[in-house]
Amino acid sequence: MSTHPASTKVLFVAGTGRSGTTILSTILGQLPGAMAVGELRYVWERGFLEDHRCGCGLPFSQCPVWRAVVDRAYQGAPPPDPLAVSQDLLSRLRMMRIPSMVLRQLRGRPAVPPHPNDDTIAALYSALSELEHPAVIVDSSKLPPYGKILERLPGIELYVVHVVRDPRANAFSWRRVKVTGDRDDDDATMERLELWRSSAMWVVWNYLVEFWWPVKRGRTVRIRYEDFVDRPRETVERIAQLLDLDTSPTPFVDERSVRMQPTHTVAGNPNRHDRGLVTLRPDEEWRRAMPVLQRAVVSLFTLPGLRHFGYSVRG
Ligand SMILES: [Zn+2]
Repeated sequence: MSTHPASTKVLFVAGTGRSGTTILSTILGQLPGAMAVGELRYVWERGFLEDHRCGCGLPFSQCPVWRAVVDRAYQGAPPPDPLAVSQDLLSRLRMMRIPSMVLRQLRGRPAVPPHPNDDTIAALYSALSELEHPAVIVDSSKLPPYGKILERLPGIELYVVHVVRDPRANAFSWRRVKVTGDRDDDDATMERLELWRSSAMWVVWNYLVEFWWPVKRGRTVRIRYEDFVDRPRETVERIAQLLDLDTSPTPFVDERSVRMQPTHTVAGNPNRHDRGLVTLRPDEEWRRAMPVLQRAVVSLFTLPGLRHFGYSVRG
């Protein structure tokens, strides 16, 4: 395993799924010095085990960047047991463990219990920073408990961007069928969630991010998805400022269009494969297509957080 001579900034993009975290991360990864790696929390199954397509278009096992990083991290061999790491993460990051995470933290212990697999995970981030020398690694793993593991790893200086989206738009998006585009040989679709489930996740995850990384700590910025798609350039520049990232040359060709170069993201929304000129527009389909009753259900379930995160009850 590698040593950790200096610390690297990792920007953890936190929030619930379907909140625009992938497109935001991919754009941030276009800034000079920033490297978007996608949802690295899933590299164990989607990269090592299932060989999904990297953001550069090649299967994970063929991507020259990841091949070099993996060689460096595990001395020329694949990591010892990706299946074990993947299963361990699944189990440690479970939503039902949140009460015990909070209790552990209140008692002054790490919220997520440490595990020997943390060294295997840390080796990947160290090798990334040693080989690619990014000023910032942009990791869109989203799940707050994973951020808690990252925060503790040696050599990582954690920054957080908390993305919140209108829960009704979020719930609507969770019910849509989306092909991942991650492999040639199948038309696998992204996971779908029932309204109550996406609503509960919205409340729990967002409050947890706020509890763990409040904006006042100085290394967190909170943005609403709606503001980001309305003023993408301004939002990206605000985040860049927090990280001391240079925004010239800028990937923006105007206030809302970005020239996208390929990234080396390992997992995330299918839009991580987008190339060329991408123009951001608010995705308002839910306002027309979501039945009134469904909206009401989501508003009711997410009531504790709606106003708090800047949304009106009536949408
Ligand atoms: Zn790649």
